[in-house]
Order: sequence, then C-alpha cells, then structure tokens
Amino acid sequence: MIEDSKKYIMNTYGRFPVVFVKGKGMKLYDSDGREYTDFLAGISVNNLGHCHQKVVVALQKQAQKLMHVSNFFHIEPQIKLAKMLCQNSFADRAFFCNSGAEANEAAIKLARKYAKENMTGERYEIITAEGSFHGRTMATVTATGQEKYRKSFTPLLPGFKYVPFGDVDAVAKAITSETCAVMLEPIQAEGGVRVPPEGYLKELRALLNEKGLLLILDEVQTGMGRTGKLFAYEHYGIEPDIMTLAKALGGGAPIGCMLAAEKVAESFSPGDHASTFGGNPLACAAGVATLEAILEDGWLIGATVRMGEYFKKGLMNLKRKYPAAIKEVRGKGLLIGMELEDEGADIVKEALKAGYVINCTMGNVLRFVPPLIVTEDEVDGLLETLDKIFEKRQPG
Ligand SMILES: *Cc1c(COP(=O)(O)O)cnc(C)c1O
Repeated sequence: MIEDSKKYIMNTYGRFPVVFVKGKGMKLYDSDGREYTDFLAGISVNNLGHCHQKVVVALQKQAQKLMHVSNFFHIEPQIKLAKMLCQNSFADRAFFCNSGAEANEAAIKLARKYAKENMTGERYEIITAEGSFHGRTMATVTATGQEKYRKSFTPLLPGFKYVPFGDVDAVAKAITSETCAVMLEPIQAEGGVRVPPEGYLKELRALLNEKGLLLILDEVQTGMGRTGKLFAYEHYGIEPDIMTLAKALGGGAPIGCMLAAEKVAESFSPGDHASTFGGNPLACAAGVATLEAILEDGWLIGATVRMGEYFKKGLMNLKRKYPAAIKEVRGKGLLIGMELEDEGADIVKEALKAGYVINCTMGNVLRFVPPLIVTEDEVDGLLETLDKIFEKRQPG
C-alpha cells in the first residue's frame, strides 16, 4: 500500500509510514489495527472528533437525496448553512467554496472589487503579516508572509506587502494610496501558534476605520470553536469586514466559505466569482450538522476553554521540568503551541510510535489542535508520553 502511495501520489508531502483506515471520536486506527489518540484532528479539521454521528447521518441522508446540482439553482443546505453562519457572526452574506485557499482567493477578489467601486484612486494592495499562512494557490501563496512558500513560484501576484505580526505602527507605515485591505489570521497557527499582543486587533481595527480600509480575517484554522469562541475575533471586541473559513467547517467534509458584511458583499454580482462545487448540497449538509453540533447548548465551546487551560497548565509543568528543551507554551483554547529550543520532528515521530498523533510547525513548534471533545485523561496520557520523550532526550 505505502509503496503504491510513494509511486503514484505526487511527492508534495513528507508522510509518516502509517495508513489510517478508521476513526471514532479522539481515536484513529491504522491498517494494522493499532489505536492512536489524535491531537492533530486532520490539521484542526475534525473539531467534533472523527466520524461524529450527526455529521455522518447528515451526509448519508443528503447523499441519498441530492449530491450536486450547481449554483444555477437555490440549494437547501447551502441556504441553511449561510443563514446559520450569518446569524452567529458579524456577517450578512456567505460565499461557499471548497478550501481555505479558495476562500481567501474570494476574499482578495471581493476586497479588490469593493475598492474599485467604493474607494478613491487605484487601491488594490493588501497588507498581510510576516509568518502568516493563507494557502497554496498563486494569490494566497503571495499573500502568505513566508518566503519559503513563495520563492519557487515567482513571479508572484502584484499587490501584496508584508509587515511584522502584532505591530500596528508597522501597518500604519505600510499603508499607501494603493492599499485597500489588511488580511490577517487572528492567531497565526501554521506560523507557530503566535498570539498577537493585547490590544493589537482593536488598534488595527480603529486604524483601518480611520483610513476607510477593509479588515479581512483568515479564520480558516481559528474558526469553528477552536480558540474557545465560535470565531477568534470575538475574543478581541472587534468585527472584520470579511472573514474566511474552511478546515473544521464541514466536520471533515471539504468546504470553504467567505463571509462578509453587507456593504462589502454588495460588490459581488453574478459573473464576478463562482465555483462549480462551492456550496454543494453534500458539503453544506455536513456543515449544517457540524455547526449545529458545535453550538448545541454551548457546551463544546465551554469545554474548549476549560480543556485548553488544563492542557496549557500541563505543558507549562513540562516546561518547568525541561527548561533547556522547552522555550514557550502559548495559544488560545485548543490551539496550542509549544516552542522548543531544537527541531521538533523527532518528538513527533516518537509520539506517533507511542500512539499519539501530534504535529510540528516552523521546525521547532509542537502544535496541538486536538478535537474539541478531548478529555483530561487523554491530555494526561499525551503529557506523560511527552514527559518520557523529553526525559530520554535530556543531555547527560
Ligand atoms: C489551512 C489554512 C489555509 C489553507 O486552507 P486549505 O484548505 O489548505 O487551502 C489558509 N489559511 C489558514 C489560516 C490555514 O490554517
């Protein structure tokens, strides 16, 4: 099986020699029947755990009824999901697509069109943050503030500029007569779980209001309850003009979404943007079931806050025990990063051998994004495993 994967699949990922064939809640099972506890959740996708019953049933029911019909017609689950997202956020309208990159592409196009119609002069430039991650398409890889993702694909799309994350003055200095928007992750996830300094988003919002520019928030990873609010912007007492979602939105089904306030959304008319599969009945039925399950009694969001604190406390204890190996623990809700002094790849490998799926980003930041249903016992199990791994690695 793995030989065929290496032969027939294009070589775009460094993969572990494991084939997962089944998942249930926090657990994954490989082709040898071995059980793992999942602290990656398909990169912050399976926020409800694997194969959540509500999502499975919604997909089964929808698959028997209608899988695809095209956006030349009104689509029941799409309307339902759009209404739910708007009623639970700042937004007035939704555009659906199939991935995070595609949602950000839509946001970039909408911001440019809005600027042409509503701003004076020729404004098309979007300011993004260093260390950001917005996707792999040409526009979104250009928006991504990390040279390593861009360098092989020049010439890039014109109209992007990068500033240090968390620095409002840097944004103020970067704004020119060509700027139309600032695009940011509220917390940089792939970029090493970097939380902005207190007051950053509030000051930035005020600056953009004063200049009449748009704020685009990329909540592809921070959205859908991950940080202990349905959307991370809710922590900061601000609202964006445009927000993008994907990853956890479909409970495992591929779906992306761009949400916008009415005054901005108005700029899109028929013909401006489209996607054949976008808002497809199957993906949207999964989205509705996922959002319903996340919002049910608010318990999951509350649990995320509690478990996030519990988990971080445990990691802080590890940091105290291994100060030479662990630099910092940070994050919000169940988006948690632990920065190491050295590379983290070996720790990920050893954890996998011990039955725990974790991730390392930026070379030396262990990223923990478990399903939001994670329990104290499961966190304790991972912490014990990490303890053993760090103990073994200690010098001397
Ligand atoms: C994963 C991610 C993307 C890209 O999403 P894809 O579905 O892989 O295209 C964009 N922005 C952020 C913040 C992400 O975490």
